[in-house]
Amino acid sequence: MSGILTYTPVEEIPKIRDDLRATFKTGVTRSLEWRKRQIYQIARLAQNEAEAICDAMTRDFAKPRFEVIVAELAGVVKIALKSAEKLEEWAQPERPDVPDSQRSWNPTIYKVPKGTVLIISPWNYPVILTLQPLVGAIAAGCCAVLKPSEAVPHLSGLLAELVPKYLDTSAYCVINGAVPETTKILELQWDHIFYTGNGRIARIVASAAAKHLTPCSLELGGKSPVVVDAAYDMELAAKRILWGKCNNAGQICVAPDYILVPRQKQDELVRGFEKAYKTFFPNGALDDAHYGGIVNDFHFKRLSAMLDRSQGEKVGGVFEGRRDPERRRFEPVIVKGVDENDSLLDEEIFGPVLPIVAVDSLDEAIGFINARPHPLVLYAFTEDPTVKERLINETQSGGIAFNDTFQHLAVAELPFSGIGESGYGYQFLRYSFDAFTHLRSSVDIPKSEENNLSLRYPPHKPEAYQVLGSAMNIRIPE
Ligand code: NAD
Repeated sequence: MSGILTYTPVEEIPKIRDDLRATFKTGVTRSLEWRKRQIYQIARLAQNEAEAICDAMTRDFAKPRFEVIVAELAGVVKIALKSAEKLEEWAQPERPDVPDSQRSWNPTIYKVPKGTVLIISPWNYPVILTLQPLVGAIAAGCCAVLKPSEAVPHLSGLLAELVPKYLDTSAYCVINGAVPETTKILELQWDHIFYTGNGRIARIVASAAAKHLTPCSLELGGKSPVVVDAAYDMELAAKRILWGKCNNAGQICVAPDYILVPRQKQDELVRGFEKAYKTFFPNGALDDAHYGGIVNDFHFKRLSAMLDRSQGEKVGGVFEGRRDPERRRFEPVIVKGVDENDSLLDEEIFGPVLPIVAVDSLDEAIGFINARPHPLVLYAFTEDPTVKERLINETQSGGIAFNDTFQHLAVAELPFSGIGESGYGYQFLRYSFDAFTHLRSSVDIPKSEENNLSLRYPPHKPEAYQVLGSAMNIRIPE
């Protein structure tokens, strides 16, 4: 495998879409047996090609092998196998519970594939964020084009070689490229667009989709806060938060973005970070193989500028916050005493910088969160049921996770989605299947119902008005 990224010629893109549409029309992708075989092939791809994939990710941004296997490949295998196992159950037509008078109408919900869909994925978890929605699309019976990110050229080049090796190319294919290619793709009509990435481009995608009334799933990011309760064990909170922040060097949509901690506990939390950091990276993270790099110069400079502009206090000691622009290595940095106008609170950090904002009450923390766009996830370290309840009821976010970072992603049975600025459209297992499925409602009225239906025909007789009267006089509960 060469893994060299070749952009798809723009003029070939419409034909690729047309060919997939022609395949969809043949009905081949609807067979459950066929869908299962393709899904198993994705699991095989993830298992058999693990070495090549890890190698490509190392070349793209020094992503640690452990993280690639745990967070991407093992996840793909798990989701593929579970989806294949559940496929028949999901695809079964459903018979809703209806009033007795409608039973004979045979009300049914058929699960039909939406058609030929587009999956646009980002660079940060480029394997799972491409293949996981693909499993959902295949499970639903769709044809799909994958558009991986040009920001990880080795991986995207490799995917373009692996997909035809494992999957039926008449139904699934990769288009590679950057803005001109994606712009061309977005001019075409799709039956669903599943986009994962940032909110700015999501608006371009959604506008293009609107021209064709194409439904979208927009899986975005944002600033996910962490609330730490004064009564919680600061050392444990720090260890679990730092682990979350160091994964993929903080380049993850659900990374803890900033911390809200009671003022009197700020220093104790910082000491917890120092201790955890020393255990994770005894010689600092700069050259540690268990810690990844920053994806490209643009993001390295963006993070550096954001950090350099901050008025907060960079925590010294073991956190030296060393940076190496040549190799795009950026050690984790904790910044305490950050105030609400600080550069670190402007936009999603998406890197290994973690600001701490000191607050005087839970009310203040809730007010801080609610004054900002809805995040993808809200983390809270607390064992107090009242605090949990208040955060559940008084804030909004895509998900809410207590007492750890990321573990809501490990439960694939939970729906994953943003809300507001963090996006919309659910995914994971059943929810990914649903994203690419149209619920086609059906009734089949027997001839024998004619008697029951007779009152509807004009001219309306007095009995018809009596029926109307009783329908309108149903008692509404207080
Ligand atoms: P990116 O730069 O790789 O872009 C994502 C995709 O958009 C790529 O395939 C790219 O080719 C395409 N694209 C770029 N410019 C375009 C244009 N003008 N028109 C159409 N398409 C275009 O990735 P990114 O956006 O930097 O990814 C990081 C963002 O994604 C963060 O905000 C992160 O929080 C979010 N994210 C969300 C999830 C989730 O599941 N909710 C997962 C991962 C990342």
